[in-house]
Amino acid sequence: MRVDVVVVGLGVGGEEVAGRLAEAGLSVVGIEGRLVGGECPYYGCVPTKMMIRAGNLLAEGRRIPGMAGDSEVRPDWTPVAKRIRDEATDDWNDKVAVDRFTGKGGHFVRGYARLDGPGRVLVGDEAFEAGRATVIATGTAPVAPPIEGLAGTPYWTNRDAVEATTLPRSLLILGGGAIGLELAQVIARFGTEVTVIEGAPRLLAMEEPESSELAAQTLAAEGIRYYTGRHVSKVDYDGDRFTVTCGGETFSGDKLLVAAGRKAELGKLGLDTVGLDPQAHTLAVDDRMRAGDNLWAVGDVTGKGAFTHIAMYQAGVAINDILGNAGPPADYRALPRVTFMDPEIGAAGLTESQAREQGLTVRTGLSRVPESSRGWIHKAGNEGFIKLVADADRGVLVGATSAGPTGGEVLGALAVAIHAEVPLDRLNHMIFAYPTFHRGIGDALRALAASA
Ligand SMILES: Cc1cc2nc3c(=O)[nH]c(=O)nc-3n(C[C@H](O)[C@H](O)[C@H](O)COP(=O)(O)OP(=O)(O)OC[C@H]3O[C@@H](n4cnc5c(N)ncnc54)[C@H](O)[C@@H]3O)c2cc1C
Repeated sequence: MRVDVVVVGLGVGGEEVAGRLAEAGLSVVGIEGRLVGGECPYYGCVPTKMMIRAGNLLAEGRRIPGMAGDSEVRPDWTPVAKRIRDEATDDWNDKVAVDRFTGKGGHFVRGYARLDGPGRVLVGDEAFEAGRATVIATGTAPVAPPIEGLAGTPYWTNRDAVEATTLPRSLLILGGGAIGLELAQVIARFGTEVTVIEGAPRLLAMEEPESSELAAQTLAAEGIRYYTGRHVSKVDYDGDRFTVTCGGETFSGDKLLVAAGRKAELGKLGLDTVGLDPQAHTLAVDDRMRAGDNLWAVGDVTGKGAFTHIAMYQAGVAINDILGNAGPPADYRALPRVTFMDPEIGAAGLTESQAREQGLTVRTGLSRVPESSRGWIHKAGNEGFIKLVADADRGVLVGATSAGPTGGEVLGALAVAIHAEVPLDRLNHMIFAYPTFHRGIGDALRALAASA
């Protein structure tokens, strides 16, 4: 079959590229091995944020005593599991998404694709030839670390956690990054005894040390045990319980959730047939998402940030390039990311240490949410801070972290400032509404100015 465009993988990024190019009038084949829509709606962002919404309701209920009367909170996972089935995933059925794509004029093929030379894609013994563009959007899959004993045990990944209709009495989690911590907090709030084991010296190791400290305090305050700098040497499963060995220590639990990272599975894609390295960890792309001649890649597979907003953003850049439309190249300077714990821990751009590694003249300013008017009013559950990272030579922000009850929302203003390179002088003379959480940005700017 000869068409204009073949898109391999119809997750977040691929569905966007395929659908919009079909709407633009190109003949498009979209190929998906699992579920159209990808990880985000079926096993990632959407169902986990539904869980978190439920967990946060429980936490708010528990904060009533001393502030608004009495409360007795009795968690029940049943409505959460039901909502994930009924509203988020249609019981892991992608008919609506397939119809959405074919409704735009796309030709849908179910199956796993591999490249077979420039512009040629095979699914089983069916061949597709793309005259204009081939787009790889195959995402990532959970990593199973090479730990003795792990393979063959019924350990959970994020996919099993999302599908769970009941929660275990106790849960061990390998990984103290965003996914591990979000799931740790929400599952613990439903009564499960949770233990987090992280190999790095701190939780949320990629973020500011203040973020790690806040995450650690939050876990401790909710009775979640966490261990950092632990390297798991062995996993045992006796048919009933898991035991995880880290040097001389052992931890046990009814279930084991592995949230130790994700990887692009490029080995079976036939990359060698288009002159690319099949052993690569990610598909290298330029700032127009080009991975080769008439070959584009978008989303997690590019290694530029495993977030839905990155996949969507890159899809927009690739679509412009394929259609020959004008548009700016990809720019990740203000890349935002949010760990949806309670408090939310959001960040955009560089951390302080990344800015220093780049040789910038770094200045920082920090304000604490409980010390702001709104934080003080909010009281229970008001932990958080705003940290600004500035390039003093250019007088602009290059990074920021916003943690707090609405940390991810407050981050929006900071991401704009970083992205648009708003001069600090201008920010210093802004009016921030009283008493909002984002008014803490003004306090952090004053701390930044004072550090000069
Ligand atoms: C638990 C969890 C929570 C998350 N929460 C958030 C969040 O809150 N915010 C956020 O921004 N991001 C979040 N993410 C990340 C987000 O889900 C991903 O960044 C996003 O799904 C990436 O989109 P993608 O199109 O690159 O890949 P995917 O969504 O993974 O889609 C890739 C698709 O390609 C298909 N495929 C792979 N190989 C082939 C092949 N050879 N042939 C045909 N099809 C193939 C796969 O079946 C898959 O459907 C979360 C992820 C997880 C796991």
